[in-house]
This record gives sequence, structure tokens and C-alpha cells, in this order.
Amino acid sequence: MTKWVYSFGDGLNEGRAEMRNLLGGKGANLAEMAANGLPVPPGFTITTEVCSAFYENGRKYPDDLRAQVADALARVEKSMGLRFGDAQAPLLVSVRSGARVSMPGMMDTVLNLGLNDETVEGLARSSGDARFAWDSYRRFIQMYGSVVMGVPHHHFEDVLEQFKRAGKVEDDTAITADQWRAIVADYRHLISTHAGTEFPTDPQDQLWGAIGAVFGSWMNPRANTYRKLHEIPASWGTAVNVQSMVFGNMGDDCATGVCFTRDPSTGENIFYGEYLINAQGEDVVAGIRTPQPMACARAEAGQHPMETTLPQAYAELLRVRSILETHYKDMQDIEFTVQRNVLYILQTRSGKRTAAAALKIAIDMAREGLITQEDAIRRVPAASLDQLLHPTLDPKAERVQLTRGLPASPGAAAGAVVFSAEECEARAAKGEDVILVRIETSPEDVHGMHAARGVLTTRGGMTSHAAVVARGMGRVCVAGAGSIHVDYAAGTMTVGAHTIAQGEWITLDGGTGAVYLGRVPTIAPTLSDDFNTLMGWADSVRRLGVRANAETPDDAATARRFGAEGIGLARTEHMFFGPDRIGLVRQMIIADDELVRQKAIAGLLPFQRDDFASLFRIMAGLPVTVRLLDPPLHEFLPHEEAEMAEVAQALGKSVEEVRNRCAALAETNPMLGHRGCRLGLTSPEIYAMQVRALIQAAVIVEKELGKPIRPEIMIPLVATQAELATTRRAAEDEIARVLKEEGTNINYFIGTMIELPRAAIQADRIAEYADFFSFGTNDLTQTTFGLSRDDAGSFLPYYVDNGLLPRDPFVSIDRDGVGALVRLGVERGRQTSPDLKLGICGEHGGDPDSIAFFDEVGLDYVSCSPFRVPVARLAAAQAALATRNRVGSPA
Ligand code: ADP
Ligand code: MG
Ligand code: MG
Repeated sequence: MTKWVYSFGDGLNEGRAEMRNLLGGKGANLAEMAANGLPVPPGFTITTEVCSAFYENGRKYPDDLRAQVADALARVEKSMGLRFGDAQAPLLVSVRSGARVSMPGMMDTVLNLGLNDETVEGLARSSGDARFAWDSYRRFIQMYGSVVMGVPHHHFEDVLEQFKRAGKVEDDTAITADQWRAIVADYRHLISTHAGTEFPTDPQDQLWGAIGAVFGSWMNPRANTYRKLHEIPASWGTAVNVQSMVFGNMGDDCATGVCFTRDPSTGENIFYGEYLINAQGEDVVAGIRTPQPMACARAEAGQHPMETTLPQAYAELLRVRSILETHYKDMQDIEFTVQRNVLYILQTRSGKRTAAAALKIAIDMAREGLITQEDAIRRVPAASLDQLLHPTLDPKAERVQLTRGLPASPGAAAGAVVFSAEECEARAAKGEDVILVRIETSPEDVHGMHAARGVLTTRGGMTSHAAVVARGMGRVCVAGAGSIHVDYAAGTMTVGAHTIAQGEWITLDGGTGAVYLGRVPTIAPTLSDDFNTLMGWADSVRRLGVRANAETPDDAATARRFGAEGIGLARTEHMFFGPDRIGLVRQMIIADDELVRQKAIAGLLPFQRDDFASLFRIMAGLPVTVRLLDPPLHEFLPHEEAEMAEVAQALGKSVEEVRNRCAALAETNPMLGHRGCRLGLTSPEIYAMQVRALIQAAVIVEKELGKPIRPEIMIPLVATQAELATTRRAAEDEIARVLKEEGTNINYFIGTMIELPRAAIQADRIAEYADFFSFGTNDLTQTTFGLSRDDAGSFLPYYVDNGLLPRDPFVSIDRDGVGALVRLGVERGRQTSPDLKLGICGEHGGDPDSIAFFDEVGLDYVSCSPFRVPVARLAAAQAALATRNRVGSPA
């Protein structure tokens, strides 16, 4: 017999935290907490296997499920001393979904299940509080009606709103039992007209209706979208948790809340969260009343921290906090309820946090001895470091502050205001910077939040949907800016005297909660001590070197600041576009008189020499890999009339002649055309000039700095041994000439890009002429797949959406195809020359998953854009730790 149901609480805990695949995260942790003596109301979890079985068998439950649920429910009844459906002392339960990973899009929780016209009277009698009983009943009907029976939530709100207006009641807590009784009747009427069926009064029907709704929600469009976005397989399934109710809505000695064991925005070791007196469930995040802070230290004037209002429960919560952190060795996100001064814990999980918080918490916990240094390295998602390197508002910039909300997710973002997720996505797709402004967000808005630079809400707290999701995504968020009035119909937001229409710009500061009019300039971030500490730890562990792709002095300086150990790719063509050079470049290409041509090339030499010299100075002896001219020449050609006239004049030609020459240089497929070493072979003067400039620069800077410079000359787009051999010989001849002229010597290296499949296959022969290889995985991906990156937009997304490719191969390396060629290139190259230096300089050099692969195949270094350097350092350390684990650490 398969066990479909696992009990928890009151001494019978059949699950554990490790069983999250079977019990879902929520269920597994409820069992774990209960087993550790924490106050968890008893209940049971229906496993994720039931969900899978349900879908495999045409939406039918396994035969013995009902019997197992009945047994588990009977146990809960016994331990609570109550009976489900009993008119005197009814047991009420919540029905809660819970997958392996927390997943918005799943069915919302239904509370107070088991109430009907009889049991509500029993609850009123047994609690001695009719108002509470009817408040619970109306909540139940509303939740069940909207979540299970599909009656839109706002219909219930409308009924309540009307009632409040008619009776001049402002606060929900002021509504009496009799008034709730009347509202309940209206709710039930609403359901029967809207859903076409009556609200179920039999508690067993209610229970199975809710269980069915949880399983049904696993395949709803919202959940499917979320899974696709986060690469969660549909086969995982969700669990269902049925748990006896505790009540935060029984009066002023009751409350409900959400808290984090540390500050999820900054990582500070301060107890953090929000709660509401006399409230239930998600009232805190729903923004019905303004939630209050937990700790006095975090309370402002006029606020009522839990520490003072419910001191006994607060003290207990502090105890739970430390037990949970010690137990889980991570920052926890806790949901709790206080019933008549007694604390109950309803959920714990690892808390979502900003990149800054992840970093601080990892470092602090390692220092506190809670986790090891290696754990700390593993804990911080490498890609998230990106967020820390992003700009904040320039403190000196002029600004007009519109209002202030809650600082829900840090960073600064400016963009055009939009009011719907759809509009947000559409504009972002066109490259526009957008800020999504909503009264509050829900899971339907997630795709829009993803596309936005920042999110602004007018309702909800630090734990609202908007805040939590934005932090997870690394989007800037200001939440609960209550003084803003949003009018969706008019497409405007109004605050004070300002009305801002869709498309007008605002700026958000997620670190302070401020909202500004227009675009406020930003400045580069400063790196915290924690950041440097983590980088130091990562550096002590990683095997891979990390270099940067940089050619401007600015980029090179940034790269060094971020810890690059050299330049892995300086693209010389970028230097050709400078306003002072492009004219000479055009003359060089277009001239047919050899002397004129030589003169243009000679004119470029000093520019290139200065370019290289400044890179050598910044890198101060670290390796600098310079790629000789790579792209097709026509990319440099003049397009506009004025440009053509300029070139024509310099060359003493007619505009017509220049235009004809340009047309003659056009190629059908430039990506596979006259470029790379093909250029160097057919126009050797260009490469000769570049090599000369490079060596002269090295000589100059070596003298200047009094230490050896390490120039590495890289030949692009090599397919055959002969190409490299010939190009190399020409370069060496030129170098010999320069060194003779200078009367000095210098240590240089000549290597090649491996970016064509043939080069990878012929790597053993090519290695005979190379001091190093650098895998150019952008071109290698294009040529291996036979697809042009610039044209892939029309079909690649389809491929990824439909599972034809697991991921975009330009973002994360295709291990099986492109990766196999890299592996082959490594093996064959090293076969010829065991100490061949091996690197990679494509976009993949900054992608953590690809970095893990490059570590595995034994490259020496990765090279990525300057802002990715810290990401690469951490990812390289994580890869090294993973390898160490796989191989097994020495005894
Ligand atoms: P979510 O997955 O959206 O967080 P939960 O299942 O955690 O949904 O339920 C939301 C909230 O409902 C909880 O934080 C808690 O406040 C309340 N809740 C759930 N079960 C119970 C219960 N048995 N007793 C009291 N409150 C409950
Ligand atoms: Mg929810
Ligand atoms: Mg919850």
C-alpha cells in the first residue's frame, strides 16, 4: 500500500525537512518544526505523488486516498478534542498548497474550512465570541467562493464595501456578529448566482472541493507560466496541507504576522517583519490595514510594535527565531499566528533576499560559525552579484521628490510609467525602460515585473507580493506608496499637484523608498567590505583565472577594479571607429594607389600604439590579449553622402568612384566572408601595422614601468594550420624588425581564436603554431549550429519555448555540441603542446553555468565583460567546490 498521507504535529511527525520532494516545502518544514518541538497546529500532508497520480489517471485520485485522509483527520480531531463538522465543538482546518519550491500561481489558501450554518453557532458558543465566529465564517465563504468556486474576489469586496457605506462602518473589526450574518447571506447569494451552484455546506464536500482545487491549480495557466519562467518541471506536482486552524482574529490578544530572521533587504541581523492585531491569514500582505513592525528598534513614532503589544508571544517568537536559524543554518521567512497570547508557527522557509542581503548574511553566518566559508561561497548566487554592481542615484543630482513608499527592493531605476503588465512587456520588448505602477501586484503581473526596470505599488507592505517578487528578481521596488492615486482607466497616477500620464518618466530609489519626477542621474556603486571578503574567499578556492574583455581605458580600469587578472580580449576594430581614426581607416580600405594606402595605414599606427600602451599601463604586467583586426572591412565603410564626400576628397576621387568601391566590397554573408585572418593574409600591411604598434607600445611601457609587459597577439577566425602558420610567420618577421630597430627584446606570445568547428577538430595541428588558444564561443556557437545570431530572434525563442533547445545557446553554452568541440579542441591542443594556455572569450565567459563547464574541461581562464568579472570569480569558485565534491575531498 502506498502511503499518500503524512501526519504532523502533536507528537506524530511522519515527515522531515529532507522530504520536500514528497511533501512539498511547506509540508516538509511543518513536520520538521513540529518534530523539533515548535508550536505547530496538527495536520497532515497529502503527497506530491498524489498530484502526479491524479494527472496520470485522468484526474482521478488513488483508491485508498480517502481512507488515509479520514484516518489522518481523525487523529487531528482527537488531538484537538474537536470534531470536523460537529455542531457543538467543530474542528476547522486550513487547506494549503505547497510544491517543492514556493510557487506563485498555485491555489491560495482556504482558511476556516468546516464552517456552515450549524457549526458557526457551535464555534460562537465554544469560543464565547459570536462576532469572531461570524467573521471567520464570512472569510471562509469569501475564500472558498473565490479560490475554489471561481467567483471573482472583487465581487465579495463590493458587497462588503456597500455594506460598510450603508452602515457607516469604517473598519472590518467594528462589524458586529449580526452584521456579518447578513453579509454571509449576501455572499452566499452572490455565489449561487455567479457560480450557478450553491455554496457547499457539508464539511466533507468542502474539504474535497478544496483539495481538488489545489491539485487543479497545478496545471492552471498562471502556474504553468511560472514554471516555464523558472524551469520547474510539471512532473514535480504539488502537495496539499490540511491543518487545524488557530485564530488570530479572536480579539486584541490575537494577531497574525510574517517575519524574517534577518533583514531581507540589507541582511542586517535584525528581527524584521510585520503583524496585525485581531487579523487572520494574509491580512498582513493584503494591505487591508497598515501592518505594524515587530521590534521596538524598527518602530517609528505612532507605531505599535509587537514587542510592546504582545510581549509574551514576542518573546516566544524570538526563541523560535534562534532555534530555526540554528537548525536550518539560514535566514528564515516565518508565518505565525497568536491566539490568545499563545504563539503558533504556520510556516518557515529560507527567506528570499536581495543580492546585498544574501552576501551579508552568508559572510555574517560564516563569521558566527553557523556555516563554513565554503558554504558562504556556495550560498551567494553568482549571477546575483550583478545587482550589487549596479548604479544608485547620484546624491548630488537635482531632483523633485513626488512621495515616499517602502524601500522594498534596492537599487535605482528610471523609466516610463506604465500601468499594466502587458504594456510593460510590450514597451520593454522595444527596448524602452519602463516602471510598472500598480495599486498592488499579483502573480498575473509577474511577467510585467520581469520586463520592468522597477515596480511601484500604492498598497501593501515589505512582505507584499510586489516586494517579495521584485527582490527575488533583482528589480527595484518601492511598495505601499499610499499617497499616490492610480487611475487605471485614465492611465494616470496622481500625487499631490502632479499628475503623471502613461509614458512619462519617474525614478525610483528602492533603497530609500523615494519616488522622483523625471529621470534622476545615477552613479556607479561602491563595493562593500563584505563583497571584498567574499571575493577573497572565492579567489582562494577557484582554479580558473578570470580576465576581462576590454579595449577602452575605462573598461580596462573597471575590469581591474573588479579583480580581472588581465585582458582576455581587446578588440582592435573598436579602436578603429574613433572619430580621429575612421577617416584613415576608410582611406586604407578604399585607396587603390599603394602609396596612399601605405600612408593611411602609417597614419593609424600612432593611434593604435597609444591604445595598446594605455591598456598595458592599466594592466601593469598582467597579460593583455590583443586580437588583430577581425570584422569584414565593409563594416567601416562610409554610408552617408557627407562621409563619402570626405573620403573622396582625401583620396582625390569622385564620390561616384567611392560609392562604386563601397558597393564592390559588399558581401552576401559577411559573417562567413572576408574577415579575420583572411584579411590579414590578403592585406598583410594591416596586421603588420597592428603588430608593430603593439610591440612598440610594449617596449615603451616596459621601460616606463620597469617591469615585463605581457603582450599576447591573437589571430582570429583560423580554420587551418596553414593560415596560422603564415600569419604567425609574418607577425614574427615584423616583431623581429621592430625589436631590431628598438635594440631591445621582449617576451611575446602568439596564439589563435578557436571559433570554427574545423579549428577545434584540427586543434592538434593548429597548436603547432600557437602559444595559446582562446575559444571564441560566440562564433563557435554560430558556426556549430549554422545559425546567425543576428537572425536568430525570429526562431530561437520558439525553440526554447517549445523545448527544442533547453536554453538560448548564446547565453549558456551548449555542452553537448559546442561544448564537445571545446573539449575536443582542449584535448587535441594539449596533445601537441601540454602547456598550451587555454581560455575562452565569448559571452559565455560571464555565465555561471558555462563557467562550471569550462572549469570541468580544464581551461586555464575565462574572459568576460568587466561587470561580469566578480560573477565569474564567484562562479569559478563554486565550480571548483563542486568539482572537489565530485572527486571527493582527500581524507
Ligand atoms: P502561502 O503559500 O500563500 O504563503 P499559506 O498556506 O502559508 O499560503 O497560508 C497563508 C496564511 O494563512 C498563513 O501565513 C497563515 O497566516 C494563514 N494560515 C494558514 N493555515 C492556517 C492555520 N491552520 N491556522 C491559522 N492560520 C493559517
Ligand atoms: Mg498566498
Ligand atoms: Mg505562507
